[in-house]
Amino acid sequence: QAPLQCWANGPRVWREAFPWPRAQGHKYQRGHVLVAGGALMTGAARLAARAAQRVGAGLVTVAAPAAVWPVYASALESIIVARVESDADFAGLAADPRKNALLVGPGAGADESTRRQALAALAAGRATVLDADALTVFARDPRTLFDAVQGPTVLTPHDGEFARLFAAAGDKLSRARKAARESGCVLVLKGGDTVVAAPDGRALVNAHAPATLATGGTGDVLAGMIAGLLAQGMPAFEAAGAAVWLHGEAAYAFGPGLVADDLPAHLPQALGTLARWQPH
Ligand code: AMP
Ligand code: MG
Repeated sequence: QAPLQCWANGPRVWREAFPWPRAQGHKYQRGHVLVAGGALMTGAARLAARAAQRVGAGLVTVAAPAAVWPVYASALESIIVARVESDADFAGLAADPRKNALLVGPGAGADESTRRQALAALAAGRATVLDADALTVFARDPRTLFDAVQGPTVLTPHDGEFARLFAAAGDKLSRARKAARESGCVLVLKGGDTVVAAPDGRALVNAHAPATLATGGTGDVLAGMIAGLLAQGMPAFEAAGAAVWLHGEAAYAFGPGLVADDLPAHLPQALGTLARWQPH
């Protein structure tokens, strides 16, 4: 099966699959994302939370330890900040069925607590995105992660994170495909040309992304976007594909001098481009 070439017909596909807001909709119908907030590196989860909002998630909750609660609460006025003091608190939040997409990893720290949070998120059986440290913590035993997968799950490794979890060899497309099949997850293998692969064999290559994205925090924004689309009911492969394209488009819309903080603010422009997209 040939991969979908994202630059050619991607935008048309994403425009059709996108959860555009409905006239009679209310915020509870637009999905609720739970983001595990880091205890030390708070910027990553803040970027992800903002990105989830910008792609249309109706509600976003960031779970944060009391020590850094004020950092999150003061920076994110329209976001719910839930104080969690223990892994059990986080598991309780994750088990709440109203949170329909969960994100663990950005700025989380490669420690046991992140591992327990990732497993709690997977155990909830709802849509889950694991990124960054939430992948790295399974380097010793990737099977533990794969066996815990229940709901639609998206893994968003860059090359280094990928190599810690998967032995797959070959070109980037075949590596991502093998990993998707092995893990039962949608794989977003990031980089200048990002490959998205699903366990059922579908795959796409996205080169619609400027090199200015090679800067700290852009991956956290992408993870938040995917979670935001999953929360709105978009299937995992489509959510990942649309997010990767919009992420690149937002970076193009900003232009040179990009830092990750600029991306959520330029998503409205990228969404406008997608909404008006006409096949040529
Ligand atoms: P991370 O490695 O988690 O910080 O994520 C970086 C993000 O920037 C991913 O979405 C990558 O696909 C993207 N990215 C990194 N380098 C490039 C590049 N040279 N050209 C285009 N996109 C890139
Ligand atoms: Mg990253």
